[in-house]
Formats: sequence, structure tokens, C-alpha cells
Amino acid sequence: LQSQLHQTQRLEVLGQLAGGIAHDFNNLLAVILNYPELIADELAGPAPELESAGRDMGQIQRAAERATALTHQLLAFARREIVQPRVLELNQTVTDVEELLRRTIGADVLLRTDLAADLWPVLADPGQIEQVLVNLAVNARDAMSAGGTLSIDTANVIIDTPADGTATQHGGRHVRLQVSDTGTGMPADVIEHAFEPFFTTKSEGAGTGLGLSTVYGIVAQAEGTITIQSQPGAGTTFTVLVPVTDEVALPIEEAPRYQHTPAG
Ligand code: ADP
Repeated sequence: LQSQLHQTQRLEVLGQLAGGIAHDFNNLLAVILNYPELIADELAGPAPELESAGRDMGQIQRAAERATALTHQLLAFARREIVQPRVLELNQTVTDVEELLRRTIGADVLLRTDLAADLWPVLADPGQIEQVLVNLAVNARDAMSAGGTLSIDTANVIIDTPADGTATQHGGRHVRLQVSDTGTGMPADVIEHAFEPFFTTKSEGAGTGLGLSTVYGIVAQAEGTITIQSQPGAGTTFTVLVPVTDEVALPIEEAPRYQHTPAG
């Protein structure tokens, strides 16, 4: 059942991705296909419009360059599909990638970490979790161009299991990873589409719209969930919940109850 779930989620993400690619590539191909005729017209006739022709050739070149950039992003995305999950302590992964995160966010953004002691283990690919942290940090940095604070928190939480019997085998125990910034925040219509491949509000060249869809895919593969809480003008918090692995015996201990209310 687990691998079936993986497969379904994977296909869902890939399906979304394929839809996004088709859409973006069609737009780029339209430029590449239609502009040569336009340029031919501009150059025909007794008074060739050289300036317009030059500009339109530039459009073709930019469309082709953007298509190339998309292909590279997609290849990177596809490579990440090969996952090697292992029993993982998320705090270790955060610590391993901390220096890279600091360099990513630059000197104007403060990095604050609050890592819970005795964090429960999860089953995940450490490289993929690093990717999640880096992608979220890149977005946080972009949202804090005037500086701010990026916070990374981890905690053991027990999610109250639904009474309808759809509870997981993990007894509600999850590890929570929160990545917060004090940046621009996200309006509701951006939150709604944020995880879709190729959705971006950034200017062309600045964003590919693949950062959060990659994060979403990785979290789904670890059988986790990700939600966004955001306040325009105040900042954004991404909350990742990953079920603890039942591959290791865990000491029975109390953790704070955590009411999971997906916001956004
Ligand atoms: P990209 O960063 O290339 O635009 P993403 O998928 O990473 O693509 O993000 C999609 C959009 O979600 C961004 O364009 C931005 O509008 C919004 N977003 C993501 N993270 C944040 C954040 N921390 N603060 C504000 N907006 C964000």
C-alpha cells in the first residue's frame, strides 16, 4: 500500500509537472514559430524594417534560452525522483546544511534555529530534505530583500487522529519542521497556486516556479504534508509534518498535542 501511495503521489506531481511544461513550452514555441514569418515580412519590401527585425530576432533568442533553462530545471527535478530514504534525524540534516543556508540568504538576513532535543526519526532522503531547506530559504531570501530573519524550528508533535478510522499506522507521531521568514508574506491567491509547477510571481529569469512544487513532491514522497501560513506584510511560515518511522522502536514519551489545521 505504501509504495502504491508513493506511486500515486509521484504520478500526481509528475502529471502536474507535465501539464505545466506543456503550457510553458507552447508559449515559448509560439514565439519561436511565429516570429520568423514576422521578420520575413519586416525584411521584405523596398524599405526593410531592420530595427524591428533585429528586436524580433532577440525575442526568438530569449524564448529559446528560457526553454533551455526550463529543460535544465526539469532534468534537475527528474533526478531528484531517485530517492534513497533512510532513517533520519532531521536536526542533523538542518545542521549539515546550515552553512549553505547562511550563504544562500546573505548577510542581511539572520538565520535562527530552534531544534528540539531528542527529535524522533523519520524515513527520508537526506539530500532531498536539504533540497527542501534550500528551496524554502531561497524563497525566504527573495521575500526579504530589505533583510529580516529566517527561522528553522523542529519539534516532536502528535497529531490528533481522526475518529473515522483513517488514522495512520504511525500513531499520530510526527516530526514538525517549520521554516519562517519575516518577508513580504503571500496573499491568498498566491498561496492557492504556490505549489503548482511553473507558478511564479517573480520576473522572468528570476523565478522558474519549480521551487515549491519540488518541495511538495519531496514532502509527499516522505508521506508528509506541507502547509503555508502567511500574513502579507508580516511574513510566511511553511510547516512540514513528516510521520515518524516505525522502523525503529521509540521510547514512549509525551509530546505536545498538535491540532493540525491546514491554513491558507
Ligand atoms: P519561484 O521562487 O521560482 O517563483 P516557487 O515555486 O519557489 O517558484 O514559488 C512560487 C511563488 O510563491 C513565488 O513566486 C512567490 O510568489 C511565492 N512564495 C514562495 N515562497 C515565498 C515566501 N517565503 N514569501 C513570499 N512569497 C513566497
